[in-house]
Amino acid sequence: MPSITVTALLSTLTLTIGLQVVVGSQTTKESLCVATYVNTDQAVDMVSSLVIGSQAAMIIDLPMTIGKAKELATWVKTTTDKPLVAAFTSHNHPDHYLSGAAFFEEFPNIPFYANSRATKEIQEDAPKKVEEWSGVHGVDNIVQNTTLPSPYDYSFFALPGDEDSPVYLIGPVTGDTTHSTLFWIPSIGTVIAGDAIFGYNLHMYLSDLVTHALTESWLATLKFTAGLNPFTVIPGHASASENGSFNGVRDLDHSYEYVKFWQEDIESKGPDYFTPSEIFNKFTSRFPDLLINRSPTAFNRLNITAENFGRGGKRRPPLQPLWTFNNTAALNGWIL
Ligand SMILES: [Zn+2]
Repeated sequence: MPSITVTALLSTLTLTIGLQVVVGSQTTKESLCVATYVNTDQAVDMVSSLVIGSQAAMIIDLPMTIGKAKELATWVKTTTDKPLVAAFTSHNHPDHYLSGAAFFEEFPNIPFYANSRATKEIQEDAPKKVEEWSGVHGVDNIVQNTTLPSPYDYSFFALPGDEDSPVYLIGPVTGDTTHSTLFWIPSIGTVIAGDAIFGYNLHMYLSDLVTHALTESWLATLKFTAGLNPFTVIPGHASASENGSFNGVRDLDHSYEYVKFWQEDIESKGPDYFTPSEIFNKFTSRFPDLLINRSPTAFNRLNITAENFGRGGKRRPPLQPLWTFNNTAALNGWIL
Protein backbone atom coordinates (compact mmCIF):
# COMPACT_ATOMS: atom_id res chain seq x y z
CA MET A 1 0.00 0.00 0.00
CA PRO A 2 1.55 3.30 -0.94
CA SER A 3 2.05 5.73 1.87
CA ILE A 4 -0.35 8.17 0.31
CA THR A 5 -3.11 5.75 1.25
CA VAL A 6 -2.04 5.90 4.87
CA THR A 7 -2.29 9.65 4.63
CA ALA A 8 -5.69 9.44 3.04
CA LEU A 9 -6.99 7.32 5.87
CA LEU A 10 -6.06 9.99 8.33
CA SER A 11 -6.20 13.14 6.30
CA THR A 12 -9.29 14.50 7.91
CA LEU A 13 -7.86 14.21 11.36
CA THR A 14 -5.98 16.72 13.38
CA LEU A 15 -3.21 14.83 15.06
CA THR A 16 -1.66 17.13 17.57
CA ILE A 17 -1.24 16.21 21.16
CA GLY A 18 -2.41 19.60 22.26
CA LEU A 19 -1.28 22.07 24.81
CA GLN A 20 1.35 21.02 27.32
CA VAL A 21 1.89 17.51 25.99
CA VAL A 22 -1.43 16.30 27.25
CA VAL A 23 -4.09 14.65 25.18
CA GLY A 24 -7.62 13.85 26.13
CA SER A 25 -10.39 16.02 27.31
CA GLN A 26 -11.76 17.26 30.55
CA THR A 27 -15.47 16.92 29.93
CA THR A 28 -18.32 16.71 32.42
CA LYS A 29 -16.58 13.65 33.81
CA GLU A 30 -12.84 13.66 34.18
CA SER A 31 -11.55 11.23 31.54
CA LEU A 32 -8.20 9.82 30.59
CA CYS A 33 -5.40 11.94 29.27
CA VAL A 34 -1.91 10.98 28.12
CA ALA A 35 1.21 12.98 28.93
CA THR A 36 4.44 12.11 27.14
CA TYR A 37 8.11 12.43 27.97
CA VAL A 38 10.99 12.04 25.52
CA ASN A 39 13.93 10.32 27.22
CA THR A 40 16.91 11.90 25.46
CA ASP A 41 20.64 11.16 25.11
CA GLN A 42 21.48 7.72 26.54
CA ALA A 43 17.79 6.84 26.33
CA VAL A 44 17.91 7.32 22.53
CA ASP A 45 14.83 9.55 22.37
CA MET A 46 12.47 6.89 23.68
CA VAL A 47 8.98 8.18 24.42
CA SER A 48 7.35 7.24 27.74
CA SER A 49 3.59 7.70 28.00
CA LEU A 50 1.80 8.48 31.25
CA VAL A 51 -1.90 7.62 31.13
CA ILE A 52 -3.64 9.71 33.76
CA GLY A 53 -7.14 8.92 34.93
CA SER A 54 -9.51 10.39 37.48
CA GLN A 55 -8.01 8.50 40.41
CA ALA A 56 -4.78 6.87 39.24
CA ALA A 57 -2.13 6.79 36.52
CA MET A 58 0.00 4.20 34.73
CA ILE A 59 3.09 4.44 32.55
CA ILE A 60 4.19 2.75 29.33
CA ASP A 61 7.91 2.18 28.61
CA LEU A 62 10.86 2.86 30.90
CA PRO A 63 14.32 3.97 29.73
CA MET A 64 17.60 2.11 29.57
CA THR A 65 19.85 3.86 32.10
CA ILE A 66 19.57 4.59 35.81
CA GLY A 67 20.06 8.33 35.33
CA LYS A 68 17.28 8.48 32.78
CA ALA A 69 14.96 6.36 34.94
CA LYS A 70 15.40 8.83 37.82
CA GLU A 71 14.79 11.73 35.45
CA LEU A 72 11.58 10.10 34.23
CA ALA A 73 10.42 9.44 37.81
CA THR A 74 10.89 13.11 38.66
CA TRP A 75 8.84 14.08 35.63
CA VAL A 76 6.03 11.72 36.60
CA LYS A 77 5.88 13.19 40.11
CA THR A 78 5.66 16.72 38.76
CA THR A 79 3.13 15.80 36.09
CA THR A 80 0.47 14.08 38.16
CA ASP A 81 -0.48 13.79 41.81
CA LYS A 82 -2.43 10.59 41.09
CA PRO A 83 -0.87 7.36 42.38
CA LEU A 84 0.99 5.32 39.79
CA VAL A 85 -0.60 1.87 39.78
CA ALA A 86 1.25 -0.03 37.02
CA ALA A 87 3.95 0.09 34.37
CA PHE A 88 4.01 -1.72 31.05
CA THR A 89 6.66 -2.22 28.42
CA SER A 90 5.59 -2.30 24.80
CA HIS A 91 8.16 -4.84 23.55
CA ASN A 92 11.35 -6.71 24.36
CA HIS A 93 14.00 -4.12 23.45
CA PRO A 94 16.12 -2.91 26.40
CA ASP A 95 15.62 0.78 25.70
CA HIS A 96 12.04 0.23 26.90
CA TYR A 97 12.63 -1.62 30.17
CA LEU A 98 16.25 -2.18 31.20
CA SER A 99 16.61 0.22 34.12
CA GLY A 100 13.06 -0.14 35.34
CA ALA A 101 14.27 -1.11 38.81
CA ALA A 102 15.72 2.37 39.29
CA PHE A 103 12.34 3.83 38.36
CA PHE A 104 10.54 1.48 40.74
CA GLU A 105 12.70 2.68 43.65
CA GLU A 106 10.73 5.90 43.27
CA PHE A 107 7.42 4.07 42.87
CA PRO A 108 7.77 0.93 45.01
CA ASN A 109 5.45 -2.05 44.83
CA ILE A 110 3.76 -1.30 41.55
CA PRO A 111 3.40 -4.15 39.07
CA PHE A 112 5.40 -4.20 35.84
CA TYR A 113 3.82 -5.95 32.87
CA ALA A 114 4.31 -6.95 29.26
CA ASN A 115 2.39 -9.36 27.09
CA SER A 116 3.34 -12.95 27.89
CA ARG A 117 5.51 -13.47 24.81
CA ALA A 118 7.47 -10.27 25.30
CA THR A 119 7.80 -11.14 28.99
CA LYS A 120 9.36 -14.48 28.13
CA GLU A 121 11.75 -12.85 25.65
CA ILE A 122 12.79 -10.20 28.19
CA GLN A 123 13.37 -12.85 30.84
CA GLU A 124 15.62 -14.70 28.41
CA ASP A 125 17.46 -11.64 27.09
CA ALA A 126 17.85 -9.36 30.12
CA PRO A 127 21.13 -10.77 31.55
CA LYS A 128 22.84 -10.37 28.16
CA LYS A 129 21.38 -6.89 27.72
CA VAL A 130 22.62 -5.84 31.17
CA GLU A 131 26.10 -7.03 30.20
CA GLU A 132 26.03 -5.39 26.79
CA TRP A 133 24.75 -2.00 27.91
CA SER A 134 26.89 -1.90 31.06
CA GLY A 135 29.79 -2.01 28.63
CA VAL A 136 28.40 1.06 26.87
CA HIS A 137 27.04 3.18 29.72
CA GLY A 138 28.99 1.77 32.69
CA VAL A 139 27.94 -0.64 35.42
CA ASP A 140 26.96 2.30 37.62
CA ASN A 141 24.36 3.47 35.13
CA ILE A 142 22.70 0.16 34.27
CA VAL A 143 20.66 -1.77 36.82
CA GLN A 144 22.56 -5.03 37.33
CA ASN A 145 19.60 -6.96 38.72
CA THR A 146 16.96 -5.55 36.47
CA THR A 147 13.24 -5.83 37.15
CA LEU A 148 11.55 -8.26 34.82
CA PRO A 149 7.95 -7.77 33.74
CA SER A 150 5.19 -10.20 34.58
CA PRO A 151 2.91 -11.54 31.87
CA TYR A 152 -0.30 -9.58 31.34
CA ASP A 153 -2.80 -11.40 29.20
CA TYR A 154 -5.95 -9.37 29.59
CA SER A 155 -6.81 -7.77 26.27
CA PHE A 156 -7.55 -4.48 28.01
CA PHE A 157 -7.20 -2.68 31.32
CA ALA A 158 -8.98 0.15 33.05
CA LEU A 159 -7.68 2.61 35.61
CA PRO A 160 -9.71 2.63 38.84
CA GLY A 161 -12.67 4.95 38.49
CA ASP A 162 -12.35 4.98 34.71
CA GLU A 163 -13.81 1.62 33.85
CA ASP A 164 -15.79 3.34 31.09
CA SER A 165 -12.53 4.34 29.33
CA PRO A 166 -10.64 1.09 28.78
CA VAL A 167 -7.16 0.88 27.29
CA TYR A 168 -6.95 -2.01 24.80
CA LEU A 169 -3.76 -3.97 24.34
CA ILE A 170 -3.51 -4.82 20.66
CA GLY A 171 -1.00 -7.58 20.14
CA PRO A 172 1.12 -9.47 19.71
CA VAL A 173 1.90 -7.53 16.53
CA THR A 174 5.15 -6.91 14.70
CA GLY A 175 6.81 -3.54 15.13
CA ASP A 176 10.58 -3.18 15.10
CA THR A 177 10.57 -6.62 16.69
CA THR A 178 8.16 -9.46 17.31
CA HIS A 179 5.38 -9.61 19.88
CA SER A 180 4.87 -5.89 20.35
CA THR A 181 1.83 -4.26 21.92
CA LEU A 182 -0.10 -1.25 20.68
CA PHE A 183 -2.08 0.54 23.41
CA TRP A 184 -5.36 1.85 21.98
CA ILE A 185 -7.60 4.21 23.92
CA PRO A 186 -10.81 4.67 21.88
CA SER A 187 -12.32 7.21 24.28
CA ILE A 188 -9.64 9.74 23.33
CA GLY A 189 -8.69 8.26 19.94
CA THR A 190 -5.11 7.69 21.00
CA VAL A 191 -2.64 4.97 20.00
CA ILE A 192 0.52 4.55 22.04
CA ALA A 193 2.46 2.71 19.38
CA GLY A 194 5.80 1.73 20.92
CA ASP A 195 8.38 1.02 18.25
CA ALA A 196 5.86 0.17 15.59
CA ILE A 197 6.08 3.87 14.74
CA PHE A 198 9.03 6.29 14.84
CA GLY A 199 9.00 10.07 14.72
CA TYR A 200 9.12 11.49 11.21
CA ASN A 201 12.65 12.90 11.46
CA LEU A 202 14.40 9.84 12.86
CA HIS A 203 16.05 6.83 11.29
CA MET A 204 14.34 3.64 12.38
CA TYR A 205 15.64 0.50 14.05
CA LEU A 206 15.59 -2.28 11.44
CA SER A 207 18.06 -4.81 12.82
CA ASP A 208 15.40 -7.34 13.75
CA LEU A 209 14.11 -7.52 10.16
CA VAL A 210 16.05 -10.68 9.38
CA THR A 211 13.21 -12.24 7.38
CA HIS A 212 10.93 -10.95 4.62
CA ALA A 213 7.99 -11.98 6.78
CA LEU A 214 8.99 -9.70 9.65
CA THR A 215 9.19 -6.75 7.27
CA GLU A 216 5.86 -7.56 5.66
CA SER A 217 4.24 -8.05 9.04
CA TRP A 218 5.48 -4.66 10.30
CA LEU A 219 3.94 -3.01 7.24
CA ALA A 220 0.66 -4.77 8.03
CA THR A 221 0.78 -3.38 11.57
CA LEU A 222 1.22 0.14 10.18
CA LYS A 223 -1.74 -0.26 7.83
CA PHE A 224 -3.82 -1.61 10.68
CA THR A 225 -2.87 1.33 12.91
CA ALA A 226 -3.84 3.81 10.22
CA GLY A 227 -7.16 2.01 9.91
CA LEU A 228 -7.98 2.74 13.54
CA ASN A 229 -8.32 6.38 12.47
CA PRO A 230 -6.57 7.58 15.60
CA PHE A 231 -6.78 11.19 16.64
CA THR A 232 -3.33 10.98 18.22
CA VAL A 233 -0.44 8.61 17.58
CA ILE A 234 2.42 8.50 20.07
CA PRO A 235 5.61 7.06 18.50
CA GLY A 236 8.15 4.91 20.33
CA HIS A 237 10.99 7.32 19.57
CA ALA A 238 10.80 11.00 18.67
CA SER A 239 12.76 14.20 18.82
CA ALA A 240 12.24 16.06 22.08
CA SER A 241 11.31 19.11 20.05
CA GLU A 242 8.28 17.22 18.74
CA ASN A 243 6.94 16.39 22.19
CA GLY A 244 3.54 17.97 22.51
CA SER A 245 2.99 18.20 18.79
CA PHE A 246 3.31 14.66 17.48
CA ASN A 247 1.81 14.44 14.03
CA GLY A 248 0.40 10.95 13.57
CA VAL A 249 -0.12 11.28 9.83
CA ARG A 250 3.45 12.37 9.31
CA ASP A 251 4.94 9.77 11.66
CA LEU A 252 2.85 6.93 10.21
CA ASP A 253 3.71 7.95 6.67
CA HIS A 254 7.40 8.19 7.53
CA SER A 255 7.44 4.80 9.23
CA TYR A 256 5.63 3.15 6.32
CA GLU A 257 7.86 4.75 3.69
CA TYR A 258 11.03 3.88 5.58
CA VAL A 259 10.19 0.20 6.04
CA LYS A 260 8.84 0.01 2.48
CA PHE A 261 12.08 1.50 1.15
CA TRP A 262 14.03 -1.11 3.07
CA GLN A 263 11.82 -3.84 1.65
CA GLU A 264 11.86 -2.72 -1.97
CA ASP A 265 15.32 -1.27 -2.42
CA ILE A 266 17.54 -3.29 -0.10
CA GLU A 267 15.95 -6.42 1.34
CA SER A 268 14.62 -7.48 -2.06
CA LYS A 269 18.17 -7.71 -3.47
CA GLY A 270 18.99 -10.57 -1.15
CA PRO A 271 21.56 -10.94 1.62
CA ASP A 272 24.92 -9.17 1.35
CA TYR A 273 24.06 -7.42 -1.92
CA PHE A 274 25.20 -4.00 -0.68
CA THR A 275 28.12 -2.97 1.49
CA PRO A 276 27.41 -1.17 4.78
CA SER A 277 28.37 2.19 3.29
CA GLU A 278 26.11 1.58 0.29
CA ILE A 279 23.17 0.89 2.61
CA PHE A 280 24.04 3.95 4.67
CA ASN A 281 24.18 6.12 1.56
CA LYS A 282 20.96 4.73 0.10
CA PHE A 283 19.04 5.73 3.21
CA THR A 284 20.62 9.17 3.47
CA SER A 285 19.90 9.79 -0.22
CA ARG A 286 16.28 8.69 0.08
CA PHE A 287 15.70 10.42 3.43
CA PRO A 288 18.11 13.38 3.38
CA ASP A 289 16.36 15.37 6.08
CA LEU A 290 16.53 12.85 8.89
CA LEU A 291 18.55 13.68 11.95
CA ILE A 292 21.74 11.72 12.14
CA ASN A 293 24.52 11.45 14.64
CA ARG A 294 27.70 10.76 12.71
CA SER A 295 29.74 9.85 15.75
CA PRO A 296 30.86 6.24 15.32
CA THR A 297 30.56 5.63 19.06
CA ALA A 298 27.11 7.07 19.67
CA PHE A 299 24.04 4.91 19.27
CA ASN A 300 23.13 5.33 15.65
CA ARG A 301 20.22 3.38 14.22
CA LEU A 302 21.31 3.86 10.61
CA ASN A 303 24.84 2.63 11.29
CA ILE A 304 23.39 -0.42 12.99
CA THR A 305 21.17 -1.18 9.98
CA ALA A 306 24.06 -0.74 7.57
CA GLU A 307 26.46 -2.92 9.55
CA ASN A 308 23.88 -5.58 10.35
CA PHE A 309 22.87 -6.17 6.75
CA GLY A 310 25.78 -4.90 4.67
CA ARG A 311 28.27 -7.28 3.10
CA GLY A 312 31.12 -7.84 5.56
CA GLY A 313 29.44 -5.62 8.16
CA LYS A 314 29.51 -6.00 11.92
CA ARG A 315 26.50 -8.14 12.71
CA ARG A 316 24.30 -7.59 15.72
CA PRO A 317 23.55 -11.14 16.82
CA PRO A 318 19.89 -11.46 17.76
CA LEU A 319 19.31 -13.12 21.11
CA GLN A 320 15.92 -14.38 20.02
CA PRO A 321 15.69 -16.78 17.05
CA LEU A 322 14.27 -14.10 14.77
CA TRP A 323 15.11 -16.05 11.62
CA THR A 324 12.38 -18.54 12.57
CA PHE A 325 9.73 -15.84 12.07
CA ASN A 326 9.53 -16.48 8.34
CA ASN A 327 5.80 -16.90 7.87
CA THR A 328 3.84 -13.69 7.35
CA ALA A 329 0.48 -15.37 7.89
CA ALA A 330 1.64 -16.74 11.23
CA LEU A 331 3.00 -13.35 12.32
CA ASN A 332 -0.26 -11.75 11.21
CA GLY A 333 -2.41 -14.35 12.96
CA TRP A 334 -4.71 -11.50 13.96
CA ILE A 335 -5.99 -11.57 10.33
CA LEU A 336 -8.42 -14.49 10.23
ZN1 LIG B 1 13.04 1.57 21.12
